[in-house]
Amino acid sequence: SKLDTFESIEFNDVSFRYKAGDPYVLKNVSFTLNQGQQLALVGSTGSGKSTIMRLLTKTYEGYEGHVLVNGLELARIPKLKLESLFSMMQQDVFLFDQDVSFNIGLAKVDQPAVEEAAKYVYAHEFIESLPNGYATHLQSGGDQLSAGQKQLISFARAMTNNAQLILLDEATSSIDSVTESLIQKALERVFEERTVVAIAHRLSTIRESDQILVLEAGEIVERGSHEEL
Ligand code: ATP
Ligand code: MG
Repeated sequence: SKLDTFESIEFNDVSFRYKAGDPYVLKNVSFTLNQGQQLALVGSTGSGKSTIMRLLTKTYEGYEGHVLVNGLELARIPKLKLESLFSMMQQDVFLFDQDVSFNIGLAKVDQPAVEEAAKYVYAHEFIESLPNGYATHLQSGGDQLSAGQKQLISFARAMTNNAQLILLDEATSSIDSVTESLIQKALERVFEERTVVAIAHRLSTIRESDQILVLEAGEIVERGSHEEL
């Protein structure tokens, strides 16, 4: 069908507010992202970056204007269908009270696939160094992991379903330099090989994006490549 492979996302004059009567938090946002490209969303807190992600994942509905995925109106695409096209790398990864393998594969893929995903995002080594490797039990808050290691688990999880579009909500929390360089390498690889929409904080992420949208109070105030801005 038309949604088997990801081709494009188009926001066409999209406005959105969380509740009728509330102020608009997105105002006439337009952009196009084609397969293989990377889009960075930047802007101050409250400018609407996460809201764009939430619309894409259908966490919220009721936008005005058009959001097209492969030319089809997002509002008419079943959420389940989207979940096989898109994968989210989250800022605050939810960890289950289970072992590392479960937390990566969510019992949907086998152990080789879990390890393949972990290797892809450079998480394999640190996992192997845990007391029981992939079988290490994680507390639901993941207290025994650093913020960066939790991000790597989240990256690996996002890779297990082979989604073609990666939605990345980059963490701002401070990450130790060893893990930071792993995250950097993982992101470079993902940026080279996938289509990405990133809420970007790292300069390197911004630099590697084809297109940067600068949001301010729900409006795109600047756009272009890193060189252009
Ligand atoms: P940050 O950099 O802090 O993550 P952001 O750019 O991601 O900010 P959004 O989370 O998209 O900003 O929020 C945009 C606006 O929408 C803000 O004014 C915020 O207060 C408001 N907002 C966010 N979530 C909701 C919600 N669930 N209900 C009502 N208003 C919301
Ligand atoms: Mg946000």
